[in-house]
Amino acid sequence: MGVKVAKFGGSSLADAEHFMKVRDIVLSDPDICYVVPSAPGKRFKADTKVTDMLYQCHRLVERNQSHEEMYHKIIDRYMEIYNSLGLDFDFYGLLLETGDQIRRLKNPDFAASRGEYLNGVLLSKFLGWDFIDARDVIKFDRTGVFASEWTNEVLRDALKQHERAIIPGFYGAYPNGDVHTFSRGGSDISGAIVARAAQADVYENWTDVSGFLMADPNIVDNPKCIRELSYRELRELSYMGATVLHEDAIFPVHKANIPTNIRNTNDPSDPGTMIVPAVTSKRNDGQRITGIAGHKNFTLITIDKAMMNSEYGFGRRVLQALEDFGVSFEHMPTGIDTMSVVVSDKELVTRKDQIIQRIEQVCQPDTISVSTGIALIATVGHGMVRQPGSAATLFNALYEAGVNVKMIDQGSSEFNIIVGVHVDDFETAMRAIYKAFVKD
Ligand code: ASP
Repeated sequence: MGVKVAKFGGSSLADAEHFMKVRDIVLSDPDICYVVPSAPGKRFKADTKVTDMLYQCHRLVERNQSHEEMYHKIIDRYMEIYNSLGLDFDFYGLLLETGDQIRRLKNPDFAASRGEYLNGVLLSKFLGWDFIDARDVIKFDRTGVFASEWTNEVLRDALKQHERAIIPGFYGAYPNGDVHTFSRGGSDISGAIVARAAQADVYENWTDVSGFLMADPNIVDNPKCIRELSYRELRELSYMGATVLHEDAIFPVHKANIPTNIRNTNDPSDPGTMIVPAVTSKRNDGQRITGIAGHKNFTLITIDKAMMNSEYGFGRRVLQALEDFGVSFEHMPTGIDTMSVVVSDKELVTRKDQIIQRIEQVCQPDTISVSTGIALIATVGHGMVRQPGSAATLFNALYEAGVNVKMIDQGSSEFNIIVGVHVDDFETAMRAIYKAFVKD
């Protein structure tokens, strides 16, 4: 028998109907030993997540206003689930007590964490499984940094005491026991941490989509699903905007060599996407690339200076100027007498002129030009490594689509080619690359 840890996202636990789907999934697979729930998410597009309502409760409390009305909406959501599932324990009492704690403690993290806590209590009663409070087993240091090794020890020992258990996602505690949360979407991280401590064979991450798509469906018609990708490919794609999983959820499982399987609670027969530590040979029906992702809103700063190549410390001075203003750069394509840095627009907003001035001061360039409205597109796939023709396919596709390439960056690992194009060409370029690489 194997061991699986299953994390269910907010939309997978948004109402009683979904609780029943979760129960069917969990009980149909005896390998699932530990379940990590999120707080109830949206039931429909215009709905509000319980976590957001809890933050609102906290804000009211902080302004010395009553949170009763808002908190009653939360009570109603939970009681609807409780009643529809036919449960019988004093959940209403727990809800009232929790509302009172939120008022007294005035701690935003505590307030927000109750969404997962209460859902965890409900799910443990519904499944008849043990409940482990994340506050006792997920540890942060005094400054709020996640204490991975400490947590791993404590959690491993705790899991050994329970054959099956529910551990709520999203929160843990400081050394003094006060609740602290991960950033939003953090139940993914909790699930990965539990999977590592349980030495699970698989970390199942159940959500409302059947895994990763090869491209953004808002741009490319009907993109294929990625059946398998590596953690490194995932990093590259999610950095460029593909989001299904919280990015910090990668590290615990990658480190422990545990694959993550993205699954769809509403379509459990779909195998979803498997994220693996090491690439296998025959994958994704032999597709050369794994996925394409892109991001708009970048600026290209290009600095030209004759004999730049023989000037010591030139690159350092450019980057120092960025660092002095707390700006990080994405890419740095260079030529002999030219150097460019690609920076996200949101990093530049208020500081663009000052940064340019500083670069002029410290580098004395011949010219410096700023080109805004750049979009970056990453074409990612281990299948491109040591395959002559990958770059040719990509650039030929862009040429044929009439797209001008403003920047090229290919790491020597060869599994990611990044191009910068004008933002108006973004969609055309994405479609052209997809069409050129992806076989039906
Ligand atoms: N409930 C939290 C949020 O909405 C954490 C999570 O769902 O992963 O961000």
